[in-house]
Amino acid sequence: MPPSRRDEIADKLRVITGWADLGFDENGALHLGRAQHRDGSGTARDLLGAAVAGKNILVLEDASNRSDVVFARVVEGRWTKDAAQKPPAYIILVDFADFSRVTGDRAALAAFNVGWGLLHEIDHVVHDTVDPQREGEAGECEELINRMRRECGLAERVEYYFTSIPGTTSNAFMTRLVRLAFEQRTPDKNRKKRYWLVWDAGLVGGLGDQNQIAAAR
Ligand SMILES: [Zn+2]
Repeated sequence: MPPSRRDEIADKLRVITGWADLGFDENGALHLGRAQHRDGSGTARDLLGAAVAGKNILVLEDASNRSDVVFARVVEGRWTKDAAQKPPAYIILVDFADFSRVTGDRAALAAFNVGWGLLHEIDHVVHDTVDPQREGEAGECEELINRMRRECGLAERVEYYFTSIPGTTSNAFMTRLVRLAFEQRTPDKNRKKRYWLVWDAGLVGGLGDQNQIAAAR
């Protein structure tokens, strides 16, 4: 992973966790912040702490512009030597280019970036959670990520799968615009305000194979 990409991830994780001194060292290992922190999500700090202390090895890989990676994805790694003596390894593939192609409401953009994508994949490994099979729900993995968003005062992701934007699916459009819903409770009443992210699925990927239309697996 190039240093500039690592910096991008560290920037996002610092904001989410509130750990101002979180960062990667020269060997590329992630160092968490010290105990003191301001704001940020305690659930995110717990998850990263569990990932660093756990038995699994997590490797981050820049998978930008890979068509088989829609935002981010985790795969099992295979040791080439002495596999039996080595701990389980997982490779988290992050498509930075996909994240740069997302536009939409500012409140939704703050709740969906490489930092949030990475935490989603780490949760899959640490808690062995799975994503939903059906449309219209966030799933158990995103439920934990939504708790982190709440702790940060951000909008929550309503659904796991993106959907096409009504009226844009005809052949008249060169692009395949899709959207993903986020929601936040308004402080005054018990009402929720909806925010959208929008992107061109023709560029980001995830179209075609119906079993692989996940926005961020
Ligand atoms: Zn997932």
